[in-house]
Amino acid sequence: MLNKELSHFSESSKSGNQISEYICSTFLALRLEEDAVRGNKQRGGNKQQQQQPQGRVVPMSHISGVKRALTHTNSFTGETLPKFGVPTPHEEQLGNTLAEVDKWGIDIFRISELSNNKPLTVVAYTAFQNRDLLKTFMIPAKTLVTFMLTLEEHYVKDNPFHNSTHAADVTQSTNVLLNTPALENVFTPLEIMAALFAATIHDVDHPGLTNQFLINSSSELALMYNDESVLENHHLAVAFKLLQNDGCDIFLNLPRKQRQTLRKMAIDMVLSTDMSKHMSLLADLKTMVETKKVAGSGVLLLDNYTDRIQVLENMVHCADLSNPTKPLHLYRRWVDLLMEEFFQQGDKEREACLDISPMCDRHSATIEKSQVGFIDYIVHPLWETWADLVHPDAQDILDTLEHNRDWYQSKYFIISLKFGHINKHIHNECY
Ligand code: AMP
Ligand code: MG
Ligand code: ZN
Repeated sequence: MLNKELSHFSESSKSGNQISEYICSTFLALRLEEDAVRGNKQRGGNKQQQQQPQGRVVPMSHISGVKRALTHTNSFTGETLPKFGVPTPHEEQLGNTLAEVDKWGIDIFRISELSNNKPLTVVAYTAFQNRDLLKTFMIPAKTLVTFMLTLEEHYVKDNPFHNSTHAADVTQSTNVLLNTPALENVFTPLEIMAALFAATIHDVDHPGLTNQFLINSSSELALMYNDESVLENHHLAVAFKLLQNDGCDIFLNLPRKQRQTLRKMAIDMVLSTDMSKHMSLLADLKTMVETKKVAGSGVLLLDNYTDRIQVLENMVHCADLSNPTKPLHLYRRWVDLLMEEFFQQGDKEREACLDISPMCDRHSATIEKSQVGFIDYIVHPLWETWADLVHPDAQDILDTLEHNRDWYQSKYFIISLKFGHINKHIHNECY
């Protein structure tokens, strides 16, 4: 059904084709035109593989991206930790902003500035503190901060989008979704901690390139994970490896069984952030909504692991796809950052004479139209279903999403008119 709609969309124009290619390749794990039919996607033959570094093969037991010596001061010499985990001359302003950590649409970019570029550490530390998770699971504050700083350092600063501000955004969004009234007292403290933890780690050491790029270029990572959820497997491996660093094991005092359960839940949630799983995740969520059971108090009844983890997976997935539901000025910033990251991948592909991935060509991408398509086919169906599940808790989020969609639609309309006008003008001048 969606395929059919996308085919129509793609036939409407060249840019429509690029957008449906983007949606199909990212969220449906397939292309409109199968690569197999087209033959090798690479314009320059097998150039990508020829470009692989010729150095020593990295042993499979080695998790790439885990830094040996950390450059910043993760360990504290003083007795007292800074109030929000990191030293900053703007502690008071940071406190004022973090006071809104339970609200949708907090300015995470501002938190980044106020926290010395440590938004993930301060958001995670605040959420864990507010929820009493340090006491419940006997996590020493210093260990939590040391782990979060180490984790944050393993997010790639130079990525325009997939950096620690995105991780902080997803963590903060998950923190808000966990508070939704329809889920009040539904999840155990362990499940709550697992969801927050999954959000903090979910993109660690992201290289700013898509799974498809890593697979097509026969990268070490794709080789390591046999092309299956390459990035997501890597994020998990890096995060769990970092827990083994000195003074980083925040789960040290958990009984073995709880540690195992937490690890399983975190793995399930992070693997579900692979966008190629989107359609099946959404289909299962729709089924859950249709057969929704509520307790007398009106909260959801989730009485087995499958249902509980399914809601948590969708929650983190929603948080990962939440930028279009945020106040417009924040959403627009995210779009610019994501497009820049896509374009940098496109530049790499152009340089290597490869086909440029959909939405990655800075010379032909239509940003406004792509946002409308992305919302119509992916984000809105997901959030609408989530809103049904927790009805009426997410109505404001849905309203903002619809407002933002209309804004991009009218911006696209204005640009089209303008270009139509320019084309006419050029046409008149030429003849
Ligand atoms: P992740 O890569 O784990 O952060 O998952 C989010 C993915 O969703 C991004 O990589 C994009 O593929 C997609 N995405 C998120 N926000 C947008 C957006 N505003 N426009 C287009 N795609 C988006
Ligand atoms: Mg990801
Ligand atoms: Zn993400």
